[in-house]
Amino acid sequence: MTNTDTTPPFIEIRGLSKSFRVGSETIPIFTDLNLSIPQGEFLALMGPSGSGKSTLLNLLAGIDTPDAGQVHVGQAHLETMNEATKTRWRAHNVGIVFQFYNLMPMLTIAENVELPLMLKPISRRARRERVARILSLVGLEGRERQFPNTMSGGQQQRVGIARALVSDPKLLLCDEPTGDLDRASADEVLRILRFLNSELGKTIVMVTHDAEAAGHATRTLHLNKGQFVEREKVLA
Ligand code: ADP
Ligand code: MG
Repeated sequence: MTNTDTTPPFIEIRGLSKSFRVGSETIPIFTDLNLSIPQGEFLALMGPSGSGKSTLLNLLAGIDTPDAGQVHVGQAHLETMNEATKTRWRAHNVGIVFQFYNLMPMLTIAENVELPLMLKPISRRARRERVARILSLVGLEGRERQFPNTMSGGQQQRVGIARALVSDPKLLLCDEPTGDLDRASADEVLRILRFLNSELGKTIVMVTHDAEAAGHATRTLHLNKGQFVEREKVLA
């Protein structure tokens, strides 16, 4: 792979500052944080609870707004965009996977996965075909009519990944995607994330507490006290 200095990274964070106000107190999370993520990277983000990992994902998704600094994802300069523009941008460009899946319990698997497509000008038939294709990609072909509560945690998380993928975003943000799973289910989810990265070219940022999960990534960063500490992946 070639990467020249003139190619800007897919994700670039420059001089990022973020704090939260709690009552009269201001709690700083990051001050002047910088990060570059090339297209096609699978980045694991580790660090103690409360270090700001989820906050960083929210800033990358344009869900949260920085106090200062720049967050560039692809062509988008998130710090200059209003909420409506960011919401539209997010729907096309970012898939989000949550620790506890966040599936709608009263909807079927197919309805959960097709939900992000409902606001798009796509025919019902094309939607159904897309959902079936994506379900088979995560090993859940033929499960369209099942409800989430009839599935194991690992299967529900695969539905969560399918929903995140259905709009074909370039970027996947995963917040402790295996945090609630047993080892075998976690390994299956990680195998899928690796496939999405290596075969479909998705750029992935995955928050995890699990060193074994981080071992599947191409780079691991540790966030602590508002700063990154890089440790090169040791290849077995
Ligand atoms: P992590 O995901 O690394 O555990 P978070 O990003 O969730 O950490 O949170 C970082 C810190 O910011 C924590 O101390 C948390 O309590 C605080 N925090 C997060 N979101 C808010 C919010 N909306 N309002 C106030 N404080 C918040
Ligand atoms: Mg978190």
